[in-house]
Amino acid sequence: MGSLKGRSPVPPLRSRSACFLRMSEGAKLDKRAERRRIVASENFNRRGFGETKEEVQGMMVEEFTSDMVKELKENNNVIERNNVVIKLAESYGFCWGVERAVAMAYEARSFYKDDKIHITNEIIHNPGVNGRLKDMGYNFVPVNGGVKDFSDVKEGDVVVLPAFGASLEEMQLLDSKGCRIVDTTCPWVSKVWNAVDTHRRKDMTSVIHGKWAHEESIATASMADTYIIIKDMEEAKYVTNYILNGGNKEEFMAKFKNACSSGFDPDRDLKKVGIANQTTMYKEETAAIAKLFERTMLKKFGPENVNVHFMALDTICDATQERQDAINDLIRDDSVDFYLIVGGWDSSNTGHLLEIVHMNGKVGYHIDMAHRIREDGSIEHRETDGTITVTKDFLPKGKVTVGVTSGASTPDRYLQESVERVLMLKALEKDGAIA
Ligand code: SF4
Repeated sequence: MGSLKGRSPVPPLRSRSACFLRMSEGAKLDKRAERRRIVASENFNRRGFGETKEEVQGMMVEEFTSDMVKELKENNNVIERNNVVIKLAESYGFCWGVERAVAMAYEARSFYKDDKIHITNEIIHNPGVNGRLKDMGYNFVPVNGGVKDFSDVKEGDVVVLPAFGASLEEMQLLDSKGCRIVDTTCPWVSKVWNAVDTHRRKDMTSVIHGKWAHEESIATASMADTYIIIKDMEEAKYVTNYILNGGNKEEFMAKFKNACSSGFDPDRDLKKVGIANQTTMYKEETAAIAKLFERTMLKKFGPENVNVHFMALDTICDATQERQDAINDLIRDDSVDFYLIVGGWDSSNTGHLLEIVHMNGKVGYHIDMAHRIREDGSIEHRETDGTITVTKDFLPKGKVTVGVTSGASTPDRYLQESVERVLMLKALEKDGAIA
């Protein structure tokens, strides 16, 4: 990495604590205007660093690309080695938004070579990539009891916001501290924020299809005035039933105590709703939930008023959709003995790929790193409910066909390393090292 010391894309820093206070004081804040103010600030960079681009691209090719994946693509996504047929899904691995975020994080490190540099949590949900950034000197803002501790982040430090975005409160805090912010938020996530802002301006409650504890949903919710986060169709049915028939308000609030805006009142706040989503949820489920709310509002308020009471904008990310479609295609291949899905255990989009496999009654293992496939023939993997399990002798004897894919935050290199572990086990079986 060449020295870039002394160069800075921004003029000297200044503190903005007065701006942050505006929200803390409880006055109704125009959140869109506040976000725009921070983004327009001289300390805010969301375009990257042109001068370091080439150098970073070279590093990323070296660290993340895979010869095996290249060979697969040259052979209609099928190759055979050591009695193992490997079939790769049509769409897999790094999406555009993740690749961009990682490149910006590398560029920021290269540009601010001698400055203290932090990431508000993980740049993406992949342990290998995050580990690499730690090796480069990144400080990951610690989380204590579910709350991020920014005490070590000081004026003038560089802070990188992850691909799935940061909450408005975090942006305000960093702005008020006079940090230099490098924003890698994926434009698809910003698109959802714009949808939520449209709801806000129309006095609608944002119904966010997502997981309330997920960083992306937290960030999206922070852009809304009134919101409720629902994780699946079952919760959607509960809420729509309440809209149509009323119900036990205490029970409702207990059920969504972590998943709605402060002061939320289901009797008052579910009359006008707009649908938004965490970009990595099932596109089909988001669409079905939107339809359910639309039907509910039609029934409750009549077709002539539905546009006042319901809104759904298309905010489903293409990359997520393509990976889900591709595994849906691959599971129709009856020659596949099991599916290997590679991606961070915290990665929501990777978890959904396993769910698709299981929903179709097929065998699948979700691993985050190659070493989960062990020399003794077992595999340590994540189940769809989040538990981590070890399955012994997971590899069928004799010739085997493996369907492989990876989540949107997984470099091809990690997919290759995982497949190589399967090949290694087959080789050991042949040699009689595994009974
Ligand atoms: S999965 Fe979609 S929303 Fe998420 S980073 Fe990739 S392109 Fe962006």
